[in-house]
Amino acid sequence: VSHPPDRATLRIDRGRLLRRLEDLAAIGKQSDGSCARLALTDADRDGRDLVTMWMRDLGLQVSIDTVGNVFGRWAVGEGLPVMVGSHIDTVRTGGAFDGNYGVLAGLEVIETCQQAGYSPRRPVTVAYFTDEEGARFAPDMLGSLVFAGGMSTEEAHDTVGTDGLRLGDELARIGYLGPVPCPGQAPYAFVELHIEQGPVLDVEGIGIGAVTGVQGISWIEVTVVGQSNHAGTTPMSYRRDAGYAAARIAVKARRIALEIGGAQVVTVGKIDLHPNIVNVVAARAVLTVDLRNTNEQALQRAEAALVATLLEVAADEDVTITTRQLARFEPVVFDDRVIDLVARHAEAQGSSVLRMPSGAGHDAQMLARMCPTGMIFVPSVKGISHNPAEFTEASDLEAGANILLAVMLDLADTDVLEATR
Ligand SMILES: [Zn+2]
Repeated sequence: VSHPPDRATLRIDRGRLLRRLEDLAAIGKQSDGSCARLALTDADRDGRDLVTMWMRDLGLQVSIDTVGNVFGRWAVGEGLPVMVGSHIDTVRTGGAFDGNYGVLAGLEVIETCQQAGYSPRRPVTVAYFTDEEGARFAPDMLGSLVFAGGMSTEEAHDTVGTDGLRLGDELARIGYLGPVPCPGQAPYAFVELHIEQGPVLDVEGIGIGAVTGVQGISWIEVTVVGQSNHAGTTPMSYRRDAGYAAARIAVKARRIALEIGGAQVVTVGKIDLHPNIVNVVAARAVLTVDLRNTNEQALQRAEAALVATLLEVAADEDVTITTRQLARFEPVVFDDRVIDLVARHAEAQGSSVLRMPSGAGHDAQMLARMCPTGMIFVPSVKGISHNPAEFTEASDLEAGANILLAVMLDLADTDVLEATR
């Protein structure tokens, strides 16, 4: 009888992890090298089919819930599972690592244990959540939001995408409308491994981010209605120019971020003008404002300042302004014990560590409503993401996956959460 190995000696297989990342990135590959697997498209289905096949190859029990979240459960041990997961949908110009890395590293953790003959005390589940990016169906992190009970299955199914198609119909069409009800059962703990998608770790030369929480997010769509008119014959004083009003809002949005300072960031990432013609004063403008902060009170101040700006611009420019909240999430604070585990294992494995908040939204912030949750960041070269140039060094991918393995097994095999509860 051979004895199971000491879990501290287990290490993932870097080549195998890189191969899976490459194989998944080949699905939806565009001519510029980017990956387009928008949620619930044929390309997303093909990516799902591949990852689900890998789950089955590892002997995992695969289940699918009513919003298309997929779970591969390694049904060892007993009790609630320790869950690791992320997403495999991408934006239209996605990279090879965003989301995919966390899911495939989860598979790698399980395969490493299986090959070493190591069986933890609690089950381990790898999950990928539907529509994390929100690039086709708003809000982002929709699948994990529904899993955590923050939105009903019905509301999610009735969500209409940028192409006018209904989420529930698309889910059924690609074969991922599952039977498991939402909200789902809370796992014992949740850990998400992800590329940073920002420049901090790369620029500072730090190996691992022990993520302390996620910024709060407010997405507001602003519609400005003015009057379409001839660009040559309409005197300036007669104009009700929706394009100009949109520009004023964008300029003021930047000032709001600078005035609030600290962690406040504001982005106007999208402005559509109608009729969008060179010699016609715009009748209508639709723009989005993305406000984020780690502090909820400050985020609310930014929202209030934006509302004041809209009232002022509407009055000054004689236009009508309406708003629609596309997404709103309060800042999330992760579990101290999980954050400490990440930092401790990173140091033990020779990585430098920075405790840092996440500037981007992640599925883990939804899971944090249900169970002790944490995240591990690895560096993104130059902070580039949502772009074909998105890149993380193989050695960093390997280090992150090994730290994930150590954290997962501490959670799955010890009472590290009970001890301090
Ligand atoms: Zn992501």
